Amino acid sequence: MSLCANCLTLTPDTAGVPGHPALRIVDTQRRRIPRSVTVTLSTFRCSDCGAIWRYREAKDDGPQGWALLATEAANEGR
Ligand SMILES: [Zn+2]
Repeated sequence: MSLCANCLTLTPDTAGVPGHPALRIVDTQRRRIPRSVTVTLSTFRCSDCGAIWRYREAKDDGPQGWALLATEAANEGR
């Protein structure tokens, strides 16, 4: 399986990149790092191609924005 056209337009590891309409949020975690920043991790599933994306938001030096966690092919064992 490959990414759909919408997912192909998402730029990974860049802050402020919006998602696309077929993404459905499946999880949100907010973690406070002691003496540091709050990290928000949101997990989305694309309803078109099944890709799993994570959006990381934090005011630190870590990776920001979208990261592709898995594609539909990785979930075939369900
Ligand atoms: Zn997709």
